[in-house]
Amino acid sequence: MNVEFNLLDRQYEKYQDEYNEAAIRVLKSGWYILGNEVKAFEEEYANWEGAKYCVGVNSGLDALILAFRALDIKKGDEVIVPANTYIASVMGITINGATPVFVEPDEYYNIDVTKIETAITKNTKAILVVHLYGQIADMLKIIQIAGKHKLSVIEDCAQAHGANLNGQKAGTFGNIGCFSFFPTKNFGAFGDAGAIITNDKALEVKVRTLRNYGSKVKYFNEFVGMNSRLDEIQAALLRVKLKHLECILGERIQLAKKYLDNIKNHKIILPSVKEDDGSHVFHLFVIQTEDRDKLQNYLYGNGINTQIHYPIPPHLAECYNGMGYQEGDIPITEEYTKKMLSLPLYNGMTDEEIDYVINIINSY
Ligand SMILES: *Cc1c(COP(=O)(O)O)cnc(C)c1O
Repeated sequence: MNVEFNLLDRQYEKYQDEYNEAAIRVLKSGWYILGNEVKAFEEEYANWEGAKYCVGVNSGLDALILAFRALDIKKGDEVIVPANTYIASVMGITINGATPVFVEPDEYYNIDVTKIETAITKNTKAILVVHLYGQIADMLKIIQIAGKHKLSVIEDCAQAHGANLNGQKAGTFGNIGCFSFFPTKNFGAFGDAGAIITNDKALEVKVRTLRNYGSKVKYFNEFVGMNSRLDEIQAALLRVKLKHLECILGERIQLAKKYLDNIKNHKIILPSVKEDDGSHVFHLFVIQTEDRDKLQNYLYGNGINTQIHYPIPPHLAECYNGMGYQEGDIPITEEYTKKMLSLPLYNGMTDEEIDYVINIINSY
């Protein structure tokens, strides 16, 4: 048997007629950028998230870049960021000229809130929280620390659409929430797409202006902006998927539960999940094991494809050589990168497929 890491076509097929109708509706409309679909999507997504405003942009990275720009975070400013994250989180900071200050993860793979305050200096302007792998970080504590030190909070929710604490969704705790709709994310488009959400009118207007050449009125340019617009086709397709998103997330949670209940092998550490319902939407199911490459090869030999998120921590990435980090500087994160392995988990995964993965892992 062969189990792929992800199969996006299964999700498409399930709602195929609705997607086809939406795409053709846009093609026939003759209007492809910043039209009714984007406007409607922004309203519907803000509403689904429980935020006042949403602005559609071109990608998750652009959402981060624009969020920092809207908050006027720039050269000389420091931003606290989890060391264990996808590199885009860090690029959102450094592209604006600001300096990332890395904080180690806790057992949930998210930023360790007990280590945030010692990382704060007089130059710290913000905390960038990442709800990694789909599990919401300890937002109550983070908001409390940010309030005490007068810091902005930006949430990178690229992996955590819908993750919530007692119903309050990721992205609505801080000043601004940043989303990616990259096709493999839990709420994925059919190409690049992203958005920010906020309850702050001034931030909304600033991002809206910056995403479109820094212009509110055509040919009047207030800022040097970007071309980072969500396009009409992606917006129309996302509107279709949004109607099914609860169901899509529910299916992922069920699949993860199956792994959690049935993987029984003393060589494998399962992900730690907080008790509250909905706090984890399982963008990724990340296990740990001592000899990770050996396990990965064993699974591959049995037809099971896995991935590593992420093999190189951002502070050791080539593009950040200039920051002067050495191996060993951020040890918990570095150890995670050596032990972690992501198992296949995707919408449309069959019982047969997941049972097969469980059996092979248990036989390892
Ligand atoms: C995917 C991802 C991003 C970047 O999103 P893109 O749409 O690919 O630019 C940012 N942060 C995290 C945590 C991600 O997983």
